[in-house]
Amino acid sequence: MTLERSLLIPRLCIIGVGLIGGSLARALKEAACVGEVIGAGRHEASLQKAMELGVIDRYATDLRMAVANADVVVVAVPLGAMYPVFAAIADYLPSGCVLTDVGSAKGSVVDEVRRAFGRIPPTFVPGHPIAGTEKSGVESSFAELFRHRRVILTPLAETEAQAHDLIQRMWEAAGAEVVDMGVRHHDEVLAATSHLPHVLAYALVDTLARLDDRAEIFRYAAGGFRDFTRIASSDPVMWHDICVANQGALLAAIEQFTRHLDRLVEAINSGDSKAVLDIFRRAKHARDNLYRE
Ligand code: NAP
Repeated sequence: MTLERSLLIPRLCIIGVGLIGGSLARALKEAACVGEVIGAGRHEASLQKAMELGVIDRYATDLRMAVANADVVVVAVPLGAMYPVFAAIADYLPSGCVLTDVGSAKGSVVDEVRRAFGRIPPTFVPGHPIAGTEKSGVESSFAELFRHRRVILTPLAETEAQAHDLIQRMWEAAGAEVVDMGVRHHDEVLAATSHLPHVLAYALVDTLARLDDRAEIFRYAAGGFRDFTRIASSDPVMWHDICVANQGALLAAIEQFTRHLDRLVEAINSGDSKAVLDIFRRAKHARDNLYRE
């Protein structure tokens, strides 16, 4: 049992040692199921920091060197940086090495892997941990991030069962529950539950921040405002990339939301108390059920 866990991934390469990549490295080290962890990225300073924090064992800024002899390569860079990374490693991934990613949209990543490799490698297992914080960087990473959280894998027709199994076991070792989903379904679900709320939070805070009396308004912002807008502190580049990568599904979710908001506005405007109360009661019921303690 101990032997099997220690051999799960003898050599792990993480490209992009930030919040997600760093937390995964920490979790797998804590679970004692990885041998050597090699970090890779564009900035030596952040990789050096990851070394100091004990998140990785060594690093390389040359991606070809980083993936050499790796058993698993996890790509954990922002979505806008995925293609150049795939293109840089396409010809250098060791045979049998399992490739996975953590991108928040899956259709774009699958297309970019196909473009970079000229096909879907049978050892490619697209993934997305449904866990995160509004913080970024390796300094914000922690081993418990994925504990009791879901990780969605979107294996493709080409994906080998053995590769899928290894990535599933990797996330389970990090404490997560793994579920499989189709690529398109993933992007639609996440557009509604994650990407739309981020767009709304950014838009709300920006609306208020542009008002002349913003200082006065923000002075009276209470707990509700803080709860609703926490995610507007997330990294703008990462969320820009997500909006671009999942444009179609996100626009559909925004359109659906806008239609519903229009109905609520109309009910408030016409003094239709029943319609307003119906919407609020349905929403309260749904949320209470979702987060029942
Ligand atoms: P992060 O903390 O900013 O980490 C990103 C890492 O990628 C950093 O190590 C960064 O290092 C590196 N990087 C950035 N641009 C790069 C480039 N052009 N080339 C090479 N390396 C680059 O971001 P994160 O929150 O971990 O997000 C990483 C991925 O996880 C994204 O694809 C995101 O969609 C996905 N994800 C995020 C969350 C979340 O809540 N945060 C949840 C699930 C999935 P340097 O800046 O030093 O280069």
